[in-house]
Amino acid sequence: MKLETIAIHAGNKIDADSHAAIQPITLSTTFERGADGGYPGGYIYTRAANPNRNSLEQVLQQLEGGADACAFSSGNAAGSAVFQALEAGSHILAPHDMYHGLRNQINEVFKDRIQVDYIDLTAIHTVKNYIRPNTRLLWIETPSNPLLKISDIQALVAIAKAHHITVVCDNTFATPLFQRPLELGCDMVMHSTTKYLGGHSDVLGGALITREKTEFWQKIRNVQELGGAVPAPFDCYMTVRGIKTLPYRMKAHASNALQFAEYLQKHPAIEKVYYPGLKDHPEFEIAQKQMKGFGGMVSFLVKGGAREALHVVNQVKIFTQATSLGGVESLIEHRASVEGPNTKTPQNLIRVSVGLENIEDLIEDISQALQSLK
Ligand SMILES: *Cc1c(COP(=O)(O)O)cnc(C)c1O
Repeated sequence: MKLETIAIHAGNKIDADSHAAIQPITLSTTFERGADGGYPGGYIYTRAANPNRNSLEQVLQQLEGGADACAFSSGNAAGSAVFQALEAGSHILAPHDMYHGLRNQINEVFKDRIQVDYIDLTAIHTVKNYIRPNTRLLWIETPSNPLLKISDIQALVAIAKAHHITVVCDNTFATPLFQRPLELGCDMVMHSTTKYLGGHSDVLGGALITREKTEFWQKIRNVQELGGAVPAPFDCYMTVRGIKTLPYRMKAHASNALQFAEYLQKHPAIEKVYYPGLKDHPEFEIAQKQMKGFGGMVSFLVKGGAREALHVVNQVKIFTQATSLGGVESLIEHRASVEGPNTKTPQNLIRVSVGLENIEDLIEDISQALQSLK
């Protein structure tokens, strides 16, 4: 089956009693046992497994082309499960522009358990210099946030495999529509389903999908079931519902984002535009090689500094000034101020999650905001 079909049908279980076409939400935390003490429905207790979570895990597993999936209560909880499953004292390699929430998690929650080097994964020939005898994990995030840098997944996998290092790719920005990390050799894919998979900015969630059911994967499954950072049945239902339209939403996000980026590139008030679908993007060739589309995220520098950038984000009318991404509505933010005082993000950078509104309305809106810059 192709992705559009998987997105709609995978994991949906028609209810045996009512024959409801869409799988109902099973809120029950516990499940009746059989006379023999068994569990005839296959469920025991909702922390361990729930029909709606199974439904979500099945569609995620099939969308990424993996062997199994674990759903979590947030993207950060999914990341946390990977770090918890590592042996204490493990060393990991992560991108220097890693999603700041996961970076803060490693630095604050895991600082006594995990050693880490944050490195530039686009400087591919330098990566092997950071490998230590206890390096267990390479974390990839591409396109990265907020500079939309592209790292070469296959080249990184080749380096990691030579040293028996597990590779996880945060595929939140690209989604399985546009990037297939498991097919490119990664061991695992991570998602913040809060973003494009849910797609409507109304449900938090995360996921891991594995290429093979390894011993390490079993540890992650244990962290999920015993740690209990699982999504509620209602949240699973909402995410499954969002996923049904993912393929069509992604095509429209990418088309709007390219037009938006091309408009900004020609604008005299703009210093630079970051979008992997632009031919002058430094890693455009790698992006073309490993992506089927370039996503809906665009960052740009306005001429000037924080003052000019803040003026623009306050002047737009259709875009909502808010963090996060991947919803049908367009969002705009001054990225440095959300990342806090230690950020390396330029003060004149604006990040946009290009939504599904008519692109002419979006361009008109950003145009009037840039026009009013003095
Ligand atoms: C949002 C995000 C996360 C964290 O996910 P939450 O659902 O907010 O916990 C991780 N990685 C990327 C790239 C993200 O955008």
